[in-house]
Amino acid sequence: TYLDRIGEVDGDVRAFLHADREAALEQARAVDSRIAAGEELGPLAGVPIAHKDVFTTTDMPTTAGSRILEGWNPPYDATVTSRLREAGLVILGKTNMDEFAMGSSTENSAYGASHNPWDLSRVPGGSSGGSSAAVAAYEAPLATGTDTGGSIRQPAAVCGLVGAKPTYGGSSRYGVIAFASSLDTPGPFARNVLDAALLHEAFSGHDPRDSTSVDAPVPPVVEAARHGDVEGLRVGVVKELDGEGYQPGVLRRFHETVELLEGLGAKVVEVSCPSFDTALAAYYLIAPSECSSNLARFDAMRYGLRVGDDGTRSAEEVMSMTRAEGFGPEVKRRIMLGTYALSSGYYDAYYGSAQQVRTLIKRDFDAAFGHVDVLVSPTTPTTAFSIGERAADPMAMYLADLCTIPTNLAGNSALSVPCGLAPEDGLPVGLQVMAPVLADDRTYRVGAAVE
Ligand code: GLN
Repeated sequence: TYLDRIGEVDGDVRAFLHADREAALEQARAVDSRIAAGEELGPLAGVPIAHKDVFTTTDMPTTAGSRILEGWNPPYDATVTSRLREAGLVILGKTNMDEFAMGSSTENSAYGASHNPWDLSRVPGGSSGGSSAAVAAYEAPLATGTDTGGSIRQPAAVCGLVGAKPTYGGSSRYGVIAFASSLDTPGPFARNVLDAALLHEAFSGHDPRDSTSVDAPVPPVVEAARHGDVEGLRVGVVKELDGEGYQPGVLRRFHETVELLEGLGAKVVEVSCPSFDTALAAYYLIAPSECSSNLARFDAMRYGLRVGDDGTRSAEEVMSMTRAEGFGPEVKRRIMLGTYALSSGYYDAYYGSAQQVRTLIKRDFDAAFGHVDVLVSPTTPTTAFSIGERAADPMAMYLADLCTIPTNLAGNSALSVPCGLAPEDGLPVGLQVMAPVLADDRTYRVGAAVE
């Protein structure tokens, strides 16, 4: 059914970069045989899934939305990929994304933008916008994404889906093409809270192949998703993420949802996190700094594209021609910003200050979680914007992640759950629920109450 649906609508939605009908059917038959042989596969066996094209897959290409990786077939599976294969999920294909996960709309993909199934003239969010578009268009029941500054929660919100950013280190980065290693976090997309929790649980947990993986039990997200009981739960509304600059219909649905939680027995208070106002600025130093270092590996020698290697040029010339042609404008902008911020003489002023701001944000969260169980805010300041509207204005694009970035900088957990449609445009609005490190289950509990 899903394969047929991809055939019917993906010409318009453009969620997939790669989908192979025969390969998917073959995987499905293999799962059938495992079940017939008596193997215990768990609740998601046989369920189809779409993977963001940032997770390596041995049987399909992996591009990270970049020309520089065109034609590269990874020799190994990401941990998320292999754990889900083990659990019997069937890979439908790989989804579109902003190049190296840099963006909020998929317009930075080297392979063209994906479209929001609610309104094809709008973006599906980003960077995991192919995954959100695929699930929203019923092309896949589940999808994976990565969230470095909001790239799961923001596309989930603008496509009317559930999307979660697990605690940093709670899901493995092994085999995830690196953008900003201290922030990158794999997570789930689904149409409802319980499905997201089942997927979250299926790929999470300690991985010795990721040096920042947390060696702790996976938070009981599935149990929490079944409960949805918020009686007595202390909910903090973040003052700094509520007010000026937000679309009125987004704020209206947000405040109604907070009232709903209060009606269900939650204790709602206002909480101030003053450092959140500086999160965006700190993120746009830290993320580019890390990416400038991570993307040095694309040197025309080891992976994918190689330009100008005709026997007359030096290795340095070939590298430079390959990087000039292989990377898109946003990636180049960030490599330059990051290289500058890390250079001697500027390091303390830029990267060093940004790291100090990061500590202040962490302290704001710690102080807040001293007296509330979860924090809430809108997931995004606006509903899905139009394709092209922000493409030439990086600052406007960066604002899409205003509400989601603090969580990445602090490393804690968050989830976006649909909370209605904005009256002015009829497009989905998301509620963001943030919880402490390794308390991901609380975000699912609140999500289930709202749903
Ligand atoms: N939109 C943000 C950026 O461009 C976040 C991206 C992400 O989470 N991967 O960096």
